[in-house]
Amino acid sequence: MKASTPLTKNIGPENIAATIEQYQANGGYAGLKKALSTMQPNDVVETVQAANLRGRGGAGFNTGLKWSFVPRGEGSPATKYLVCNADEMEPGTFKDRLLMERDPHQLIEGMIISAYGIEAVRAYIFIRGEYHLAADRLEHAIEEAYEHGYLGHNICGTKFSLDLYVHRSAGNYICGEETALLNALEGKRANPRAKPPFPQVSGLWGKPTVVNNVETLCNISHIIANGPEWYRGLGKGADAGTKLFGVSGRVKNPGTWELPMGTSIREIIELHAGGMQDGYKLKAFLPGGGSTDFLGPEHLDLPMDYDAIGKAGSRMGTGTMIILDDKTCPIGMVRNLMRFFAKESCGFCTPCRDGLPWVEKILTDIEQGKGSVRELDQLAQQVWNMRPGNTFCALAPGAAEPLQSALKMFRKEFLDHIERGCCPYEAAETRFVG
Ligand code: NAD
Repeated sequence: MKASTPLTKNIGPENIAATIEQYQANGGYAGLKKALSTMQPNDVVETVQAANLRGRGGAGFNTGLKWSFVPRGEGSPATKYLVCNADEMEPGTFKDRLLMERDPHQLIEGMIISAYGIEAVRAYIFIRGEYHLAADRLEHAIEEAYEHGYLGHNICGTKFSLDLYVHRSAGNYICGEETALLNALEGKRANPRAKPPFPQVSGLWGKPTVVNNVETLCNISHIIANGPEWYRGLGKGADAGTKLFGVSGRVKNPGTWELPMGTSIREIIELHAGGMQDGYKLKAFLPGGGSTDFLGPEHLDLPMDYDAIGKAGSRMGTGTMIILDDKTCPIGMVRNLMRFFAKESCGFCTPCRDGLPWVEKILTDIEQGKGSVRELDQLAQQVWNMRPGNTFCALAPGAAEPLQSALKMFRKEFLDHIERGCCPYEAAETRFVG
C-alpha cells in the first residue's frame, strides 16, 4: 500500500478492486473487523473526531463532531440512519464518481463502520441518477458484502446488524442538499428543510440521521485501521488526511488526483494538471466547484486547505478547480454557471427562484453587448438578496459566490462589454455555450 494515497490505492489502470476477493486481498474489511472486535461504537466516533476528518462534500464540517450530535443511550430513538450523499452535481466535480466506480467496497466498508459508530440500523446511498455505472457496481458489491457476512444480521458474528440500499436520485442539484435529499428519500418533493433541527437529531422520517459525502466515508476504514495520528500526519498543513483534488478547463491534463491536504494550488495546476494548454494563460480559477469565489494567479502558492482558502476570500468546497483562461469570456463563464443554478433551483425561496433567472438574463445581455452600467448595480443587489440566511439552503448563497467575485475581479471586462456594445472575446471556441 502506498501510505500517502489510501483512498486510491486500489485504483490504477487496472480495476484491481473489482471483486470482494481482490478488495480483501489488498487489506479490505480489516478496518471493519478491527472496529467490531476491539471498539465500542463511541470509540469509533472519538477516533474519527481525533483524526480531524473534515467533510469532503464541500462544507468541511468536522465529521466526528457531526456524529457526536447523534443522541445515544437511554431515551434516545432506537432507529437511526446513515445516508451517503452520492448526488455529486457540483459543477466541475467528478471525484466521488471515481471512488464509487473503481472501488465500491471502500465506500461500503466505510459506511458499515460509520453506521456501527452512530448505531444506525439502516443505511442508504443516495446516488446521482446519471451515475448508472457507479450504482450498478455498488449494488453488485453490496450483494457480495451480504454474501460474505459484512451486511445483514449479526455482522462478522457480532450483535451488530445493518441493511444497506442504493437509492437512485430522480435528478436535480438541489437533491444533494442534505435536507432536500432526506425529503426525496422519503418520496417527497426535494425542498430543503429549515435547520435546526439538524438531521443528526431529526432527519429521515424524523429519526436521527447522519448524512456524509462519499469521499468522507471512504476515509473511515483507513482511519480505523491505521489510527488518528497516522491520518493527521498525511496532511501537509493544518488539515488532516489526503483529498481528491481535480482540475478542469484549458489545462494539458485535466483530471483528479489524491494528494495530501495542504498541497499548493500551483503544484496541482502546474504539475498534476500539466499547466495551461499552449497559447492560454491562467486568468482566474474557482478553487472548489462552481459555488466558490474566484481566486487569481496571485493565489497559486496557497495550500489547498479549508482555512487558507477561506482567508483568501473563497472556499475549498469540493477541491475541484475550474480554470478560467485569458481567452474565454469571464462574463460568459459566470452566465453559464448562473444558468445551471437557476435551472436547478427548487423554487422554494424567492431570492433563488426569481433572482437567479434575472441574474442570468442580465449577464446574457451584458455578454451580448446589450447591457448597461446600471445593471451592474442590479447584479450587486441580487448578490445581497442571496446572502446566507436569506434562503433556506446554500444553493443561492453558493451561486452568488462566483458572481460577487466576478463583479469585483472582472469589472474592467464587464465595462468593456458595455462600452463596446459587443463581446470582446469574439472567437466562438472561447465562449461558454450554455
Ligand atoms: P453546512 O455548512 O450548512 O453543513 C455542512 C454539514 O455540517 C451538514 O451535514 C450539517 O448538518 C452540519 N452542520 C453544520 N452546522 C451544524 C451545527 N451547528 N450543528 C450540527 N450540524 C451542523 O453546508 P451544506 O449546506 O450542507 O453544504 C454546502 C456545501 O455543499 C457547499 O460548500 C458546496 O460546496 C457543497 N456542495 C457540494 C456538492 C457536490 O456535488 N459535492 C453539490 C452542492 C453543494
